[in-house]
Amino acid sequence: MSVATIADKINRGERIDADEALTLYRDASTWQLGRLADAIRARRHPERVVTYIIDRNVNYTNVCVARCNFCAFYRTVGSADGYVLSREELFAKIDETISVGGNQLLLQGGHNPDIPLAWYEDLFRAVKAAYPTFRLHALSPPEILHISRMSKLPVPEVVSRLIAAGLDSVPGGGAEILVDRVRKLLNCYGKATADEWLGIMREVHLQGLRTTATMMYGSVETPAERIEHMMRLRALQDETHGFTAFITWSYQPDHTELAGVELTGIEYLRTLALARIVLDNFDNVQASWVTQGGKVGQLSLAFGANDMGSVMIEENVVRAAGASYCMDEVEIVRNIENAGFTPMRRTMHYDLVGPPVFRERAVPRRLSLDVAKQEGAERMPAELAAYEARSREERARRSQLA
Ligand code: SF4
Repeated sequence: MSVATIADKINRGERIDADEALTLYRDASTWQLGRLADAIRARRHPERVVTYIIDRNVNYTNVCVARCNFCAFYRTVGSADGYVLSREELFAKIDETISVGGNQLLLQGGHNPDIPLAWYEDLFRAVKAAYPTFRLHALSPPEILHISRMSKLPVPEVVSRLIAAGLDSVPGGGAEILVDRVRKLLNCYGKATADEWLGIMREVHLQGLRTTATMMYGSVETPAERIEHMMRLRALQDETHGFTAFITWSYQPDHTELAGVELTGIEYLRTLALARIVLDNFDNVQASWVTQGGKVGQLSLAFGANDMGSVMIEENVVRAAGASYCMDEVEIVRNIENAGFTPMRRTMHYDLVGPPVFRERAVPRRLSLDVAKQEGAERMPAELAAYEARSREERARRSQLA
C-alpha cells in the first residue's frame, strides 16, 4: 500500500495495521507524518489547549538488582553510592513540590531487595495522613513485580494492598520496548517480560487505577519492534481503556554499559507522530522535553503531542545518562504559548485545573533541577532497620552499625 493510500485511510479516521505503520515510518516524509499526526491531535483536542502538570520525579532508591545495561542510574546492592531516601527527606520534597504549585510525586526506584512491601505501605499511608489531597503516581510494573516476588505475594494482592495504602496511579516506566527479543538484549528480561508488564497494567486497570504508557526507543530495537510495542499498547487500551497518555523518549547512552549514539531530534518527531497515528485510542500524547530539550519539546506540539508533561523539580535517571534539560513553569508556558496553544495545568487524570499557577500567585522559579540526595546526606536512613533486610550486604552493613 502506498503512503498516499495509507494517509487517506488515516484522514478518514480509520485504524492502520502494523504493516501500514511500518510503510509510513519508512517512506513518509517527516512533513507528511507531522501533518497526519497534527490533524489527529486537532480532531481530539480542537480547543488548542496544551496541558502540563507540576510534579516531582523522585527516585526513592537507586539500589537495583535488575542491572539493565541501558541504565546509568542504578547502583548494586552494597554499593557505597547506593541510597534509600528517608521519610523526612521525602516529606521535605513534598513540601517543596506543594510550594511551587504541585500536587503529586512521580515516585519510582530501583529493585531494592531490602525494601519490603510494608515499607511502601507505611510510606504511602504516612503521606496520605499528612497530605490528604496529595497524589502518588508511583511504582512502575517491574517494581510491582519485584515487590510481588520479594514478598512472595501474587501481583493482584500487592496491587490491592498498595491501592489501599494510597497509590493513586501507576507510571508506565520499565516498558522500554515490549518485545522480549529486545528486553533480553537490554538485560531487562529478568525484571519483567513484555507479557508481565502488560499483565500488571491490566491488573492495575481492572482494580480501578489509570496509568500511563511509555516507550524507550533507539537502543537495539528495529522500527518493526517499535511498532509492535505500540500495537500491544493499543490492544490493551482497547480492552481496559486504562491508559491516560503515551510518552516516548529516546535512549540516553552516556555512562551506560550498552553505550551507543542517541538518535536525532527528527527521529524523535517521526516516532512521536507515528505513535499519535497508531495509538488511535489514546487521548493524550506527551512531549518529552526532558530528553529532547525545550525546543524539540515545543516542536512536538506540531507532531501530535497535546501535553508538555511535567514541570519537574527533580530528575535523577536521565541526568545520570548525561541529559539534564530543565524548564520551570514559566519556560513551559512560554513554549506552549509561542507555539500557538493555550497552556493549562492538569491533574494526573488529565482533568484541567486552571491557568499557569505563577499567574495566579507568586511561586518560586526553579532554574535548576534537584537531585535525590544532597551532598553529604546519610545514604541509608536509620528507619530502614525497622524492616527486615534480605540482602547479605545490607545485613552486614547493619551488623557493623549495631
Ligand atoms: S532501568 Fe530501572 S530496573 Fe533497570 S537497572 Fe535501572 S533502575 Fe534498575
